[in-house]
Amino acid sequence: MAVQPPPGDRRIVIENVAIATVDANDTEYARGHVVILGNTIEAVGEGPAPARPDGVVRRIDGEGHLVTPGLVNTHHHFYQWITRGLAQDDILFDWLVALYPTWARIDERLVHAAAQGSAAALLKSGCTTASDHHYVFPKDGGDVLGASIEAVRELGLRFTALRGSMDRSRKDGGLPPDHAVEELDDILAASEAAVDRYHDPSFGSMLHVALAPCSPFSVSTDLLRQSAELARRKGVRLHTHGSETVEEERFCRKLFGMGPTDYFESVGWLGADVWMAHCVHMDDSDIAKFAETGTGVAHCPSSNARLGAGIARVPDMLRAGVPVGLGVDGGASNESGELGTELRNALLINRVHRSPTALTGRQALRLGTMGGARVLGRQDEIGSIEAGKLADLALWKIDGVMHSSIADPVAALTLGALPPLAALFVNGEAVVEQGRLTTVDEERIARDCARAARELTGRAGRAG
Ligand SMILES: [Zn+2]
Repeated sequence: MAVQPPPGDRRIVIENVAIATVDANDTEYARGHVVILGNTIEAVGEGPAPARPDGVVRRIDGEGHLVTPGLVNTHHHFYQWITRGLAQDDILFDWLVALYPTWARIDERLVHAAAQGSAAALLKSGCTTASDHHYVFPKDGGDVLGASIEAVRELGLRFTALRGSMDRSRKDGGLPPDHAVEELDDILAASEAAVDRYHDPSFGSMLHVALAPCSPFSVSTDLLRQSAELARRKGVRLHTHGSETVEEERFCRKLFGMGPTDYFESVGWLGADVWMAHCVHMDDSDIAKFAETGTGVAHCPSSNARLGAGIARVPDMLRAGVPVGLGVDGGASNESGELGTELRNALLINRVHRSPTALTGRQALRLGTMGGARVLGRQDEIGSIEAGKLADLALWKIDGVMHSSIADPVAALTLGALPPLAALFVNGEAVVEQGRLTTVDEERIARDCARAARELTGRAGRAG
């Protein structure tokens, strides 16, 4: 029996495949090769792979397939996977008010199930790196952040866990109910502990931690200021929701006497280490401030459409040089949970009321890959197919009945139906094969999520 080489010396060769590298020049190969060595990309180019006799454990004939960088998700709330299909026709503020009481009853067991459901949907739609903004920490809920981290680790997704928070409840003019928030000092202590315990900044890290107070209408000004100081002291990134709706804009003007972007600027929340979800309601001056400071944007087209929030000015942001990535957002405002379909949704929604050149298919793919990598501060590790980068790759099957007649392989992905995923590699490991998770039994996840959703609904119902 042949002896397997050690993991770092194992090569996987993909040949005869269309490749969209999403490198700085948007290099594409009509019939090329990618060689994976251990957890990194060793080679990419046109034609067959260079002769490499050593350590090849797998050869994939990529005829009829497209390879892209694995997709990068920059905004999500994994726990919401078990509160989908509720408040179906509400605007953001009404939707939040309807759901807060249910969310306030989650615990670590339910969060584990929900996080696996969310992560499964991401992986099965081509996503290899995701962030999860978790901001609900019930007093008797146990270690919900740890539960989501453990859940994701089992599935093999590269992860940025966001220690979120809320401390402005109704009694302080905020939106969440009083029992759903934490005290400022507790939040800061737990945030620092989460960074110390989990954050791994090394090249190829599978787990980052960042700090993420929830939104201007659910956190205090002190929490924003002190979270920024803490994050900068610890060398981690900052994330929040910003400029999502007209109601948020109104709230900020009433309470702080300025719009959301000026408010964030006043508390030290613009910078290359910050990214914000949505950024729908931004004027030219807001976009210029984001561009000047390198503040990133997580564009969430489906969630914004579902909640009727509006359409972010992504073409203007890109022209100004703002880093922009894509986000699924939580399952409660985007029941699909797929990142792959957001490529097409971003393309379409950004053309509505604008022009057919407002966002190209290549730009949409860049948002979902390099754009997201930049927003998460990982542009040197992931987001494009280049020698030396991490082997996070999606292999899409585009020769089936849904795609074989489309002229351009990238258009098959960005304009056509989401193609079946023949394989998904994270860190050189195949975590999806023929559309199925390889790491965990999907049916078990489905059962756990159904049970968790019923249990949570029951708890919320009993509490009235
Ligand atoms: Zn969100």
